[in-house]
Amino acid sequence: MHGGNGRLRTRTALVAGGAGFVGSHLCDALLAAGHSVICVDSFLTGSLRNVAPLQNHPDFKLVKHDVCDALSLPRPVDWVFNLACAASPQRYQADPVHTMMTSVVGAKNLLSLAEEHGAVFVQASTSEVYGDPEEHPQREDYLGHVNCTGPRACYDEGKRAAEALCFDFLRAGRVDARVARIFNTYGPRMQADDGRIVSNLIVQALKGEPLTVYGSGEQTRSFCYVSDLVRGLIALMEADPNPRVPINLGNPGEFSINELVEMVLALIPTSSKVAYGPLPADDPQRRRPDIGRARKFLGWQPRVALEQGLRETVSWFETTLSRTPSRRSR
Ligand code: NAD
Ligand code: UDP
Repeated sequence: MHGGNGRLRTRTALVAGGAGFVGSHLCDALLAAGHSVICVDSFLTGSLRNVAPLQNHPDFKLVKHDVCDALSLPRPVDWVFNLACAASPQRYQADPVHTMMTSVVGAKNLLSLAEEHGAVFVQASTSEVYGDPEEHPQREDYLGHVNCTGPRACYDEGKRAAEALCFDFLRAGRVDARVARIFNTYGPRMQADDGRIVSNLIVQALKGEPLTVYGSGEQTRSFCYVSDLVRGLIALMEADPNPRVPINLGNPGEFSINELVEMVLALIPTSSKVAYGPLPADDPQRRRPDIGRARKFLGWQPRVALEQGLRETVSWFETTLSRTPSRRSR
């Protein structure tokens, strides 16, 4: 971050998907570090509310744009973060063809833009590239077990293709591209209705509605708090030299969905009861990152334990839901 003269070296960062859950926290962190941010978002699953507090910031610019269409910028950028893509299974399966195009054509368009600007590129990939994994925990050299014709394929295979593009641009010496494989991340600004487990359980408990558990609830996930993830994404962007391999970013603590339910119930006094429902097709049974590479190449590891992160998230949802008209009128 420091230039040769000892002064802070600031950059201009394009954050595609910057009005989404993770992207808006990334915009906050980049601005707080003194960088300029151009946020590019179609508002498919993101919201203006996530970036509203930034709109008067002199170093923040918001561009409404779908990354499936080529993009040109009037001023130079140093960094491109590609987070554009719906992340909730419910949302990315709503228009699977657009999801696939967002990952593949969107990554190609943003890589071409990075090439034009000589910018460093970070791709938000996913633990979903491992599919329903047969190896546990998942190391980056595990090649995965993905059903390429199932309902999750638009996301999983789209992200795998985007990774392939990144490494093709990198090998050809066209773009200094890096790939983060992100594991389940949670925190304030998840959309209350986007169907992901942490937001679903918290919102259901706060409203006294049934807590929906799909399948037996014995399937596991590893949950990373959003501030830890954002620190990892910036560390990957700043890594020198480029690790030239994908890097898992996630919290290695592994919890079953039933355990997560217990933790949420311990934090929220509620009359809600658990309602079991069918397990969606191709739902991965176990997931836990091996973060040896992140430790080695980035000096990164998560700091926020699940209980602490859940407290923060619950308190944010309490405030947000109490401001919604339906609650106020009760
Ligand atoms: P999100 O849905 O909240 O944010 C995605 C953002 O991308 C939204 O603002 C949306 O409007 C925007 N977007 C979607 N399609 C677009 C398009 N075609 N053009 C422009 N903008 C578009 O999801 P998130 O949780 O913030 O995830 C951010 C990124 O991290 C995604 O790429 C996701 O695949 C990846 N990721 C997230 C998780 C997680 O648990 N949150 C896990 C693995 C990977
Ligand atoms: N899940 C659940 N109830 C819900 C939402 C999700 O039991 O209301 C389960 C889902 O089937 C999966 C796990 O929780 O096994 C994590 O789901 P999420 O959609 O958050 O993320 P992903 O499946 O992409 O890891």
